[in-house]
Amino acid sequence: MLYCKSFCQKLNLHRLRSISSLVQTKAFIDGNWVKAQNNEEFEVFNPANGAVIGSVPNMDPKDANQAVHAAKKAFELSEWSKMTAKERSSLLKKWYYLIEKNADELASIMSAESGKPINEARGEVTYGNAFVEWFAEEARRICGEVVPSPTKDREIIVLKQPLGVAALITPWNFPMAMITRKAGAALAAGCTIIIKPAEDTPLTALALVKLAEQAGFPNGVINIITTNKAAPIGELFCKSPDVKGISFTGSTEVGKWLFRNSSDGIKRLSLELGGNAPFIVFNSANLEIAVNAALSCKFRNCGQTCISANRFFLQEEIHDKFINLLKQRVETLKIGEGSEPGVQIGPLINTMQFNKVNAFVEDARLKNANIISGGKPLTNLGNLFYSPTIITDVPVNAKLYTEEVFGPVVSIVKFKTEEEVINAANNSNRGLAGYFFSENIQQVFRVAKLLEVGMVGVNEALISAAEAPFGGVKESGIGREGCHHGIDEYVEIKYVCMGNLKY
Ligand code: ADP
Repeated sequence: MLYCKSFCQKLNLHRLRSISSLVQTKAFIDGNWVKAQNNEEFEVFNPANGAVIGSVPNMDPKDANQAVHAAKKAFELSEWSKMTAKERSSLLKKWYYLIEKNADELASIMSAESGKPINEARGEVTYGNAFVEWFAEEARRICGEVVPSPTKDREIIVLKQPLGVAALITPWNFPMAMITRKAGAALAAGCTIIIKPAEDTPLTALALVKLAEQAGFPNGVINIITTNKAAPIGELFCKSPDVKGISFTGSTEVGKWLFRNSSDGIKRLSLELGGNAPFIVFNSANLEIAVNAALSCKFRNCGQTCISANRFFLQEEIHDKFINLLKQRVETLKIGEGSEPGVQIGPLINTMQFNKVNAFVEDARLKNANIISGGKPLTNLGNLFYSPTIITDVPVNAKLYTEEVFGPVVSIVKFKTEEEVINAANNSNRGLAGYFFSENIQQVFRVAKLLEVGMVGVNEALISAAEAPFGGVKESGIGREGCHHGIDEYVEIKYVCMGNLKY
């Protein structure tokens, strides 16, 4: 049995490598593909079947420090920050075209290590690459200002200059897009970067950097280090005076830890943290639109996105009808290994995530919530599969209501009035995304303004786009990614006062 498992694992690893020459086994520092200085590696698994699909360096702060130095040297000495915006833009465009050309390979690697269905992975490559394209364009529009002066002999000039070395720490749920959303903006601004991808999904990140190498970025401009010991490396980024900014997407807990640890150096931080998105369906809603939105918002990536709907609020009149419609659709979802054609729901990413989803559902069950559909692990498919689940009458003290489940669970509460639902939706220390469905124009504007979130979807659940500012309020984070605002995280504003001018 043991022999068989390890044989199958080797086969899987071999198969992935034969699918794509982009699968890397080393990290990339200062233009070189390198092992960890300690020679350690860690394995990467396919969550659908537990097979090993790769091994990557398990780096320490020593390696991270080397990457920081390379990025610093590249920022100061290479032409990167001094290049013209047009030159930086051209390199970003080259990267964009290479990603486009290799999209299918990137999607296969991503699906294998994250478990997401291949169609979704392909969608993420397009979405992630849109940030490279967008910021290639924005690179040429990072404009300063000349502000009218209060005195006749002065000019007030405002410059935007690159921050310096930026450390980018990313999660596993969007192995590519969370990198390009940060890297595109940082590189466009003229910063040099060190990417620290999630330990569950380093292969997509390494493949992306392989393509950046082919695009021809100067040595040290883009560095990537892999590790499954994130904390000491996070600490190094926080404490190093050479790292001028940290951009992090991940859990609120780690975000707070980074905030605390980098406070001494008053470091620039951009934090995209957890959400607890309300999904409100008012009586006037178009239910077909709302049900379609619920499916994409809740079941995309098996519910593992920080803007997934977490608390469904259904108004009395449409409550039962919405549930019936949703139940019919949920029960037809195809579950399985991401690489199988037609699969819509893959496995959860790892055992920790699986146990969490299971525990949240059991907690709701014990608190007398009603399980309408699913509510159990799908052990016949593998160790990390959980059934798409609908639960109603979820009490406000249930974990499903107060915390982010990050799984394929629709958790429903009934409400009577608009005022009641706004209070309930806002009664959370998170404020990333919120969605509501209404055909009443007065209500649309009222509710959009009252929801305490950074992003609102009105009659729409797929709200992310390179052109739009992504980010949250409250404990969901600080800063914005995408849009022209995304550049702001990577530039310093410098005021130059030109005095004693004689006109
Ligand atoms: P998740 O719950 O989504 O796994 P985490 O916040 O644990 O979210 O992880 C997001 C990213 O942050 C990953 O790349 C992970 O390795 C990294 N990470 C976790 N802990 C730390 C830390 N103390 N310092 C820096 N990075 C960390």
